[in-house]
Amino acid sequence: MTKATIWRTTVLTLFPEMFPGPLGVSLAGKALASGLWALEARDIRDSATDRHRSVDDTPAGGGPGMVLRADVLAAAIDAADSGPDQPKDRPGNRPRLLMSPRGRPLTQSRVMELANGPGPLIVCGRFEGVDQRVIAARGLEEVSIGDYVLSGGEIAAMALIDACVRLLPGVMGKPGSSLEESFSDGLLEYPQYTRPQEFEGQPIPEVLVSGDHAKVAAWRLAEAEALTRARRPDLWAAKNSGQKPPKSTTKG
Ligand code: SAH
Repeated sequence: MTKATIWRTTVLTLFPEMFPGPLGVSLAGKALASGLWALEARDIRDSATDRHRSVDDTPAGGGPGMVLRADVLAAAIDAADSGPDQPKDRPGNRPRLLMSPRGRPLTQSRVMELANGPGPLIVCGRFEGVDQRVIAARGLEEVSIGDYVLSGGEIAAMALIDACVRLLPGVMGKPGSSLEESFSDGLLEYPQYTRPQEFEGQPIPEVLVSGDHAKVAAWRLAEAEALTRARRPDLWAAKNSGQKPPKSTTKG
């Protein structure tokens, strides 16, 4: 990727001051500072039109809390997609995500797709969520980071951005380290060890210090398979329904 086409994400939020937050430190932060990716946090409230700059209102039909207004959010999305950073010939030609507990759960394969694209526009909900009509009108893809409810979409957006950014070329310390980790091949990662050789009476497994790379690879695959089978029968079943059983593809 060249500088002209760096991965650039726009976040629409009521709390732009939350960004870059944790994305500003460590590998993601260094990559942000050096221009390997870009982050624009836009305040949804800037698109409010009334005197009080209101962005939310009470739910139609009654009930607790407040709902983000469709007109304000649509205006915020339109303003973001006509900004100077957007290609004039294809405005809005990027994924538009809405962080939402009702969304499709985020997976590593969706993260990979998003990391390979131009970088998404991400809407962060607050309160009881957003007016349903803006979701269809602006083609928002609802994305969940898990079956629990956060108070806002910002932390969910940060999780998604972090997962994407670490896959961008030049961001991770070692190229290829993302290829072997959890989920990349439908398995959880094998256990990791480092010095000291013995910790509170527990040695590092013999095979890992044997220097026999084929044996190490076979041990890691067996551990990854056992872990996945025990902890995530859903992943194990999905892996085995999509391809031949791992045993027949095992090398070494
Ligand atoms: N009343 C809503 C929850 C609103 S939580 C419901 O029951 O579905 C407020 C905002 O936090 C949401 O609009 C969304 O943007 C964000 N959020 C909460 N939980 C989330 C999750 N698991 N994944 C992604 N975003 C989430």
